[in-house]
Amino acid sequence: MKKLILLVLLLVLLAFTIPILFTIPFQGKAVAGEVEKSNSMELENQISEEAYAYSSYGEIKLYHAKTNTVETIPLDTYLYGVVSAEMPVDFEVEALKAQAIVARTYTIYTISNSAGKHEGADICDDSTCCQAWISKEDRLAKWEEAKREENWKKIVGAVNATKGKVIVYEGKPINAFFHSNSGGTTEPPVNVWGGTGYPYLQAVQTAGEENYSQYASEVTLSKTELEEKIRQSHSDFTINWQEPECIKILEYTDGNRVKTVKIGNIEMSGVEARTLFGLRSANFTFLIQEDSVTFQVKGYGHGVGMSQTGADSLAKEGKSAEEIIHHFYQNVEIISW
Ligand SMILES: [Zn+2]
Repeated sequence: MKKLILLVLLLVLLAFTIPILFTIPFQGKAVAGEVEKSNSMELENQISEEAYAYSSYGEIKLYHAKTNTVETIPLDTYLYGVVSAEMPVDFEVEALKAQAIVARTYTIYTISNSAGKHEGADICDDSTCCQAWISKEDRLAKWEEAKREENWKKIVGAVNATKGKVIVYEGKPINAFFHSNSGGTTEPPVNVWGGTGYPYLQAVQTAGEENYSQYASEVTLSKTELEEKIRQSHSDFTINWQEPECIKILEYTDGNRVKTVKIGNIEMSGVEARTLFGLRSANFTFLIQEDSVTFQVKGYGHGVGMSQTGADSLAKEGKSAEEIIHHFYQNVEIISW
């Protein structure tokens, strides 16, 4: 009888501990990204995890530009920090999911194609170099306290819902450029950086971009300021402000941005003008006044790839993350990596 009770107790104990043994290392891995030593049970967990694991990019080495340190973190934990740095949390969930897939793809592309860019690291947290990233602590501190938990859950949920999803063209992760607001039409990269471009990055139109604060902006420079800025890189610059066409847009790009503008005796690309005058995009018109020039700008960013406000606008129309991605990147597939 004693033996029977003991046996029943043992069975009860096993019934409780076996699931724990199966789930704890798994959860620990998903949350903290710790690499567990393998035993037979964990091997089972690894097999179930393989279904959404990245074959070689489970963890990445992130270079923190400001502190000059390298941190090793799980890819998706890194992506929480990227998505919450790159896109407003009040955007639609499908837009955040699209951003997560795009950011994961961009990360893997960068790791595969920019080896040696950062010594001892895969990618950095500087938005002007690789991709913006913010720590959870810093992110939460920037949100009002009552919304912190809800906001973070939304970001984590969007990334986790896209686990392992990567955009490929002919089987390879794409160079998944993205920007803030296209001004209505995106831009092939050849018009921004030259080169041969990519077949999946063409000019596409998105309705609804004008509903966002990123759409329209203005920069006013005094004529003297403008002249000084141009002389920084063109020492032979001259301009006669009395001439009716002393500033003239000569050519537009496929995405309606300024391709070439003539200012005084100097011809420059719209991209150069954007940089020189601090404009949000190369999609601009200008107004010459008595003592100043005002640039009226549409859109925000280089205009290549996915527009974030465009993604949100499409999500509001009921489009899924996958549909949003197919809108901005041509003839691509979204696969589990
Ligand atoms: Zn970088």
